[in-house]
Amino acid sequence: MKEFSIIETYFKQQSHQRKDVLLGIGDDAALTLVPAGQALVTTTDTLLAGVHFLPDAEPSMIARKAVAVNLSDLAAMGAEPAWISLSISLPEADEAWLAAFAAGIAEMTQFYSIQLIGGDTVQGPLAVTITAQGFVPPEQALLRSKAKPGDFVYVTGTLGDAGLGLDILLNKTTVKDLEHRQFVLNRLHNPTPRLLVGTSLRRIANACIDLSDGLSSDIRHILQASKCGATIHLDKLPLSRAMLESIEPQNAVKYALSAGDDYELLFTVSEEQKGKLEIAMANTSVSFTCIGQLNGMSNKLELRMNNYVVDYQTTGYQHF
Ligand code: ADP
Ligand code: MG
Repeated sequence: MKEFSIIETYFKQQSHQRKDVLLGIGDDAALTLVPAGQALVTTTDTLLAGVHFLPDAEPSMIARKAVAVNLSDLAAMGAEPAWISLSISLPEADEAWLAAFAAGIAEMTQFYSIQLIGGDTVQGPLAVTITAQGFVPPEQALLRSKAKPGDFVYVTGTLGDAGLGLDILLNKTTVKDLEHRQFVLNRLHNPTPRLLVGTSLRRIANACIDLSDGLSSDIRHILQASKCGATIHLDKLPLSRAMLESIEPQNAVKYALSAGDDYELLFTVSEEQKGKLEIAMANTSVSFTCIGQLNGMSNKLELRMNNYVVDYQTTGYQHF
């Protein structure tokens, strides 16, 4: 199978068609319309075989996750997603693999009402790069740099589940309960981009970031960009029932603090906006938890357990 027929067979026929796409796959480039008054938000993430997924991972899972992690970045900006592009490097044109992969892309584009508008197909080691684009009114974009001392720090959902799932796959730990095991593996393989939360936080949150490398690592980006410090209460970190019932409490906190791949949002909200936050979050039906507060001590992350300062050496996932 040649590059051209791969594109024709698996990517051109993607079903979801948006009105703002004047020209999709097939020409030298795509033509799209950005709504008046909105900023175009663009993000890219690569998933590499052996780094971000096991080489024998299910192709539809790889596709869904590659889309989800990009949509999570748009969510963290407060943006509404519109289009994706797909750059794929494949060792060989395995048709069963491609069909399953394309089905995973199609599932995501339909579910999120977005359109695949282009990409590139090359031969090489298995790697998937997605670029996602969306819109946000420019003054409402959620930046890492706008947090203020005194803001309360919140996270959505529960933390550490994906990391526990990964350790199960790597045989570093065992979770006996089948339901719990499935729950954490699903959190690893099918992260939920918190898009509705992101758009609901416009004009409410001061700063926002998605948790991809781990809380202790990702929160530092906000502290650095906003020149703030933070106190985080480890006993407040939201843990799933699967986590609580599978792992020693001390280890559960370590997963929640430093494991990657959660794709929850971390955001900061001033005292004055807390009422609005309660109402906005109720409409999303996504759980959220206050885990600490910002202060003026530039770049200092203080961790407390039951109010006592503790020293955890945790850095989150780093590539280099
Ligand atoms: P060019 O050589 O001009 O870059 P290509 O042959 O790479 O063009 O691509 C032809 C068309 O197919 C373009 O519209 C491109 O965006 C699209 N395309 C290529 N690979 C993919 C892919 N994996 N997924 C979606 N669209 C793709
Ligand atoms: Mg090309």
